[in-house]
Order: sequence, then C-alpha cells, then structure tokens
Amino acid sequence: MANGAVSQSFELTSAEPQFRAWFACAAGCSGELPLNQVAYYCPKCGSLLDVHHDIDVLHTRSAHAWKQIFEDRYRRTSYPYGSGVWGKKEMVCPAVDDANVVSMYEGGTNLFWAERLGKQIGLEELWVKQCGNSHTGSFKDLGMTVLVSMVKQMIAEGTKIPAVACASTGDTSAALAAYCAAAAIPAIVILPRNKVSTAQLIQPMANGALTLSLDTDFDGCMKIVRELCTKENIYLANSMNSLRLEGQKTISLEIVQQFDWEVPDVVIVPGGNLGNISAIGRGFLLMRELGMIDRLPRLVCAQAQRANPLYRSFQHNFAEYKPVRAKKTLASAIQIGDPVSINRAIRALQSFDSVVEQATEEELADASALADRTGLFNCPHTGVALAVLFKLLERGQIKSHERVVVISTAHGLKFTDFKRRYHEGKLRGVASRHANRPVELPADYTKARDAIFRALENT
Ligand SMILES: *Cc1c(COP(=O)(O)O)cnc(C)c1O
Ligand SMILES: [Zn+2]
Repeated sequence: MANGAVSQSFELTSAEPQFRAWFACAAGCSGELPLNQVAYYCPKCGSLLDVHHDIDVLHTRSAHAWKQIFEDRYRRTSYPYGSGVWGKKEMVCPAVDDANVVSMYEGGTNLFWAERLGKQIGLEELWVKQCGNSHTGSFKDLGMTVLVSMVKQMIAEGTKIPAVACASTGDTSAALAAYCAAAAIPAIVILPRNKVSTAQLIQPMANGALTLSLDTDFDGCMKIVRELCTKENIYLANSMNSLRLEGQKTISLEIVQQFDWEVPDVVIVPGGNLGNISAIGRGFLLMRELGMIDRLPRLVCAQAQRANPLYRSFQHNFAEYKPVRAKKTLASAIQIGDPVSINRAIRALQSFDSVVEQATEEELADASALADRTGLFNCPHTGVALAVLFKLLERGQIKSHERVVVISTAHGLKFTDFKRRYHEGKLRGVASRHANRPVELPADYTKARDAIFRALENT
C-alpha cells in the first residue's frame, strides 16, 4: 500500500487483502508482466497476453461476501464503485488507484425482459442485456474505462505515452475518444472509410480525437495500427490489449447478479473480433472458480454469414481456422474476416457447451425489426444474435422453457440509416417483412382521421 507509512492503525488491522493481477501468455508460457507495462504479446512465443488474477487472494472472501459487496456498491454514488465495472474492481483491475479511474458510470444496464418477443417466438424467458445503453452507446465502454484508467495511471507514474490509438468498426473509436477526452489524453482512431455509420464517425470527431479515415476495411486498419503501436510509443487500445476484456467480463457478473445470482441457461453473443465472447466466457469461469455459481450457461456465438470465420471453424470442430475476406454486411461492427481474439474465443467456447451459428442479411434485418416492434430498438448486431436465437429455437437446440439472454451490443440510435432503409424497403436482398412506413398527407383533418381509422381497422 503506497501510503502504508501514514495509515492509521485501524486501517492496518482491517487487513485489506492485497488483490493482484498481471499479464501472462494466453498460450500458457510461464512468466508475468505487470499491467502497467506496455505489452501486448508474450515475449517468448508472440501470443496475446491475458490478465491473470491472484485467485488465492480473491478466495480470502467467500462467494457470499463477494455478492454482498457487489450488491452494496451496485449503482450507488461512492466513486468509482457505482460503476458496473469498478464495483467489481478487485476482479477487474485492482492495481489502478481510484484517483486514476476514468469512469462514466459504465454497466448497470437494463436486463430487459423481452416478454412479448419471447411469447411470439415461443420462448418462456427471453432477456436482452442492453449493453448499448451506455455513455457512447455500446458495450465498448466497459472495456475502455479499464484501458484508459490504466493509461492515466501509467502517465501519472511517468511512463511516456503521447497518445492512445485504435482501429475500429465504429464503436471502439467512439469509446476511446470519449474516455480519452474526459482524461485529457490524446486519442487517434483509424476507421475504414465509408464503412461506419454517421453517428459512429461523428462521435470521435466531436470528442476531439485525431480521426483517420482510410481506404480499406477494418482488417486493413488493424494492420496499420498494430504496426504503429509496435514501432512507435503509441498505446494500443484494440481488444488484443486484454485490459479491455477484464472490463467486458463484468457483463457476465452483472447478468448473474441481476438474476439474484442464478445462472441463465443460454447466453447469445454477436461476435466479430471475438473479444467480447472471450470476455463473457472469462466472467462465468471466474465466478465458478470462486464458488459464486455452480454451473455454466451454454454459450452461443452469433456471426454474420458474410463475415463468418469462427462459424466455419466451428463446422470442423475448431480443428482448423482460416481467415476469410469479410464481405459488406449490415452488421458493420462485426465485418471482420481475421479476428484478433480467435484463439481466445475458441478456448473460451471449448470450456463451455457452445454453438456458433450465423445469420444472413435478411435474417438479421427482420429479426431486429421484429424485436423493435415489441419495444426494443436494436442494432443490427443484436439482430444477428436474435436471428440465431430464432434458428436454434426452431431446431430444438434451445428449448422453450430455457432462460435465454441475448447480448445487445449497441444502441439502435447509432444505426438509424440501417433502420430507415429497412422501413423504406431499400435494403438489397431484404424483403422488409416488418416495415412500417410513414403515411404522408396534406395538413387536412379529415384525411388524417380517415388514414387513422383505415389503419386501425387493419390491426
Ligand atoms: C465490437 C462490437 C461487436 C463485436 O464484438 P467483438 O468483441 O469484436 O466480437 C458487436 N457489436 C457491436 C455493436 C460492437 O461494437
Ligand atoms: Zn507465450
């Protein structure tokens, strides 16, 4: 403890356990690197790094005690513990001083009981975890708060980090830009030109990030940012940096907490770069290790058919993996052909009873629109997850009595163009079965009334 010399004796006797986490090779090489070191790869084998926690120290509190602590902090005001991420700080990133935490009250998002949609598809318990109801409108905030807080701490310790950079399909850059702006840290975002939504492009611009728009796809942007962060001392904010996954894994903890510590039967996650599915897997495994839960849910990764390298690998029981060239998809945030976290994701899925399934453009668009009709306002990626749910339910791979959670990854307001074109019937290859068009009329009472009663007769 840094201020141990001035601690009052009652603090010393309260004996706060020394929670500890470090980077270690994801492929299993021995050795540890501190979390405040700039490192993304294992120095021995070049694999990505994972964050490991000192499980023995976490075990000094009982499962019951952890649950109690998490309940006491949840969405309350004691900074930064009201955040859904920092309320679980000891299991996320214990080394960051509270003074360096850059938090915008992440997490604590609604677990929406999709009662009406569930009834329509024949599922008794459908829940949608609304991770997009967040500061920048996507789950990326959960990871970025951890990464930017660590950067703030490293800068405070004297490490020279002139800027933080990421490649993005849109949401990572929005989160990076916002958290860096709040912390006065320069941010660089590298986006594929014309492949992100207007809202996604405007967010980093508005937050003052240096925004590079490149004539390539996400994978092309990723290559450039990797080189930039290897050759220069710019800090890399993509999810190959496993600090982000530590924040994102709180999704699992939070879902279980919201069910009064019961484990759902199935969790469905849309996957692109595959950091989130890996993180969600880690969350459940950690809870089980600590005795907070006694079983695991089934895990489903949902991919867009036009960007489906994990799905293809799953067809061969993960025995082989080949990157694909991702084709343009409405689910633009998962238009990724060579996911950075492929190995992490496969390892995670192999630890669970798991399935990878895919959805076509029409399936994802219709699923998203159908869900909107029941009060949601979905992004196309959530549409992918819902479409996959519909398929698995129809095939009997998910049973009607099971409790299913769909991870909604972003807010639909980031994707209004997708929705407008759907309802105008302008999406190519999509019949827009659930379209709802505005009725355009002159400003005339009788015509408006007639239109209203004609419509009501048809419902
Ligand atoms: C980033 C993102 C995903 C995919 O998450 P990965 O960790 O890259 O698999 C899905 N949906 C939205 C909206 C995203 O921003
Ligand atoms: Zn290694």
